[in-house]
Amino acid sequence: MKENLATYTRIDEGIRESFSARKRLFIGLLSGTSCLLIVFFIIFWLVPYIGLQQFHPAFTWSLGIFVLLCIALVVWSSLALVLNILLKKPVLFSRKLRGIAIKLFLPLMIVVGRMFGINKERVRSSFIQVNNEMVAAEGRRYSPAEMLLLMPHCLQNSLCRHRLTYNIKNCKRCGECSISGLLGISEEKRVPLAIATGGTIARRIVVKNRPRLIIAVACERDLASGIQDTYPLPVYGILNERPHGPCLDTCVALAKVRQTIDRFLQ
Ligand code: SF4
Repeated sequence: MKENLATYTRIDEGIRESFSARKRLFIGLLSGTSCLLIVFFIIFWLVPYIGLQQFHPAFTWSLGIFVLLCIALVVWSSLALVLNILLKKPVLFSRKLRGIAIKLFLPLMIVVGRMFGINKERVRSSFIQVNNEMVAAEGRRYSPAEMLLLMPHCLQNSLCRHRLTYNIKNCKRCGECSISGLLGISEEKRVPLAIATGGTIARRIVVKNRPRLIIAVACERDLASGIQDTYPLPVYGILNERPHGPCLDTCVALAKVRQTIDRFLQ
């Protein structure tokens, strides 16, 4: 019993450590990206400075004011994002920050990460972690019908012959993959469950169900693009586990799915 407790504590500490490492990575990349943007805006102002001055002195200053406003926006959004991550609540009028992080910072952070030899998956994973915390920090609660559990097709056992894309209830619950457990959770919590074979089907499912919160399971790439595609709809992402490599017989920690539903349930 004591040994089990020690093991769970170690696992818990490991998870927490990896979460804070992801957050540190996000904050580091965010700061690097903001600095690069500021340098870009200063160059943008300095280069035409001499030429514009010859044309009319007011042009240089109007351009300067525009650049200063852009720099102020970058500083405000990155500072508010960092405070949001650290305090776990929206600050500095930052309710729209998730959109800024998704639309502006994520693509730039992937480029900056590549410059520093950090692979895309790590950047995406840190982004998903931060996105989740921002979704949770909004503090909203939902009824079961307002939520949607959206699963990737690769969770289904590759040898299973039952077709689940159009009706997940075709699953015979043999227990060979995570789908049977997910069906149990969906029934217990009364939260709709769907499987998507790709981005187009996922979009169709979202349009049909009209959820107010999506709890999605997928790999880093699909989760990050799903979060981007569905913005401003909040998506809470859970990474799948891939013991057989990508896209084949993946699985998901059912306890985590259950915990996430409970976190948002009214
Ligand atoms: S649990 Fe369902 S989906 Fe998974 S292998 Fe069994 S029948 Fe197929």
